[in-house]
Amino acid sequence: MRFSKYFQTLEMPQSEPIPGKNQVKNSAGGYSWGIDDWGRLDRFLILGSEGGSYYASEKELTIKNAEAVLRCIKADSARVVNRVVEISEAGRAPKNDPAIFVLAMVAGMGDEKGRQAAFKNLSSICRTGTHLFSFVEEVEKFRGWGRGLKNAVAKWYLDKDPSQLAYQVVKYRQRGGWSHRDLLRLAHVKSEALNDIFHWIVKGDISENLHQLILDFEKLQRAESEKEILETLSGNKSLTWEMIPTEYLKSPAVWEVLLPNLPMTAMIRNLGRMTANGLLKPFSSAVTTAVSKITDEENLKKARIHPIAVLAALCTYQKGCGIRGSLSWEPVPHIIDALDKAFYLSFQNVEPTAKRWMLALDVSSSMNCGAVASIPGLTPRMASAALAMVTARTEKKYHFTAFSHQLIPVSISPRQRLDDVVKQIDEIPFGGTDCSLPMFYAMAKKIPVDTFVVYTDSETWAGHIHPSQALNEYRRKMGIAAKLVVVGMVSNGFTIADPDDAGMLDVVGFDTATPALISDFGKGE
Ligand code: CA
Repeated sequence: MRFSKYFQTLEMPQSEPIPGKNQVKNSAGGYSWGIDDWGRLDRFLILGSEGGSYYASEKELTIKNAEAVLRCIKADSARVVNRVVEISEAGRAPKNDPAIFVLAMVAGMGDEKGRQAAFKNLSSICRTGTHLFSFVEEVEKFRGWGRGLKNAVAKWYLDKDPSQLAYQVVKYRQRGGWSHRDLLRLAHVKSEALNDIFHWIVKGDISENLHQLILDFEKLQRAESEKEILETLSGNKSLTWEMIPTEYLKSPAVWEVLLPNLPMTAMIRNLGRMTANGLLKPFSSAVTTAVSKITDEENLKKARIHPIAVLAALCTYQKGCGIRGSLSWEPVPHIIDALDKAFYLSFQNVEPTAKRWMLALDVSSSMNCGAVASIPGLTPRMASAALAMVTARTEKKYHFTAFSHQLIPVSISPRQRLDDVVKQIDEIPFGGTDCSLPMFYAMAKKIPVDTFVVYTDSETWAGHIHPSQALNEYRRKMGIAAKLVVVGMVSNGFTIADPDDAGMLDVVGFDTATPALISDFGKGE
């Protein structure tokens, strides 16, 4: 008998930890590494916890994440705020809600320094009235309305010039039982320059000097015909669809006037509606306008349009009916192609590396549960297919694979459209999880790989060897200093990347910076 049969560092089953490596048991019963609280903060800010995961309910996943956030706040509250600002301002997360929640936590549970930082950055995180209402709703669960909070909310209003404020208060009027009127009263906001607007908000007073946008908004509310609506809209390009009474939103003429100045988010969210009402149809000039707007890289980035939002718009639009099923339309192919293009444009730019890449999607059962950024039907495994496409479209040398208990090469062409890729991945049967398979497969087939990119929740348990050990064996046998990037697709606390190995990196899926990070790491930068 050899003692090393049971205890060694070269090859241990995933159901047991690698000796001396400080591994932790993951939710599937296998051993991975725990990510530290700061890593978990990043995952939460980008992936959120809505809908839970295969292993944890929404409640459990939220609590685990919030506990990690709290430990970060206790360790360095100002650093937490900086991180929130960094990710939120750059639009790196699909949704701003986790950032708002974390900011509310700091404002309530942080030390003096952290609370000051949270209040100081309120306007950079809460960029719209809706964000502000969400913040107020969350922060009330952590603290009372002391002077700090009142001043911060007052500052949100007072820092705006009349045009900015008018736009915010007519576009985002209420949310979750909160309105601007409530907040102005609570925070005792006063200002000479903004006095007319405040009076209108609180008392409904319409003075002659009231900002034109609010006067036009009032006109829209009182309009008695579509003609009146169209005239008002034509006269003021700052008016948006949210300011128009619902009954007129069915009209193609109304949308035709709105289209040239439609903000980016409104654009991608209303494509179905504009197709259903007949404005967007083959060969129409409206389609030309829409396509050039959707694929305008500068505008996509300026409006912080997240690739996940584009992907969601694409998947909904090509289905030809809305989520609630009230609208249906015949999708215009040019629009689908434009959305497909916009998806890639909305990531940070990536330069090709000339390295050899293996893109390996974990398609096991656990990756087929939950909804990324709470988009109905968008599972982590479908989302990871779209994410892998960014690298596949950039690099010349890549090999696409999918694995659960076995690995299969996937024939995906970079010319394929995203909805097609997502569908193809969705149809692969799934099983137990063995994250060492990509390395094993490449070893068995003697495929030279510089970087393995594994898109997974790191809940691996089924293999007879750990992924990190399989990578080491691959390096030895192939004589290649191969690297491993683990793309975390669920906001849990695990990773298969060995934190002590400089050739392994853990990144967060659906951070807009992720493809660029993967590329830089592959190049050795
Ligand atoms: Ca799994």
